[in-house]
Amino acid sequence: MPIFSFACRACGKEFQTLVRASDAPECPACQSADLEQQLSLIAAPNKGGQDSEPASACGPSGCGACPAFN
Ligand SMILES: [Zn+2]
Repeated sequence: MPIFSFACRACGKEFQTLVRASDAPECPACQSADLEQQLSLIAAPNKGGQDSEPASACGPSGCGACPAFN
């Protein structure tokens, strides 16, 4: 099973977890299901079509400028 990396939008925690098809991942810190999936740990090419924030540039505490942490 693949291991995915997530960032919690609620508390900013970053974590990795197995994702099963029938199991929605939750933040281990606050149990929020409002997660942002990090698509790649190595390379984060800028996929066209969205103004997405840089993958992990801001770290778990955010920088104040990222929409995910507002
Ligand atoms: Zn959380």
